[in-house]
Amino acid sequence: MIHEYISYSFDSNVYVVEDSKTILIDAGTGMTDSLRRFITSFKIDLVVNTHCHIDHVGGDPENVPIAIGEKDADDLEKGTEKTVYDFLMPFFKGFKVSKRLKEGDTIETENYRLEVLHTPGHTEGSICLYDEAKKIIFSGDTLFIDGIGRTDLPSGDEKELKRSLERLADLEIEKVYPGHGESGECDINRIIEMWF
Ligand SMILES: [Zn+2]
Repeated sequence: MIHEYISYSFDSNVYVVEDSKTILIDAGTGMTDSLRRFITSFKIDLVVNTHCHIDHVGGDPENVPIAIGEKDADDLEKGTEKTVYDFLMPFFKGFKVSKRLKEGDTIETENYRLEVLHTPGHTEGSICLYDEAKKIIFSGDTLFIDGIGRTDLPSGDEKELKRSLERLADLEIEKVYPGHGESGECDINRIIEMWF
């Protein structure tokens, strides 16, 4: 099953896919007690970060392998300015990355098959995780229910984001689990029209 922690603060949303393996998707800043408790209540086998921003990676648990899109991986390891760490955590030194995810990679548990879609635009290494059979997507900051991620941060690119969203619009998706705001249904074509 999918556990959702919808954040109303600086943290990203955090999702746990609990199945034969337990996958944590994004981890917030690491600075919010209730969210830390939420994360530590699971035995996490793998962390997947949708991109390298500090509000998604700061709370990555220790001693659990971390996976992230290959084009954001060095930045997460080195804690570069692309993580926008200075926004919240001037002391951020980065985390070791165990798996650099590419387009088409899959993360599989007994009942879920999460396919990695490389969806640049918010950051160059942003990924979404799409389960075609369940028609769900974890969209990070590429797509929100009512909007899109910023493109004015390091490695952001408006044209790339539009292209990524057009790609998502072609998929069958019944529920979006975004990086911020509520989860739910989403009319991606309408969002593209509204924002570009
Ligand atoms: Zn972000």
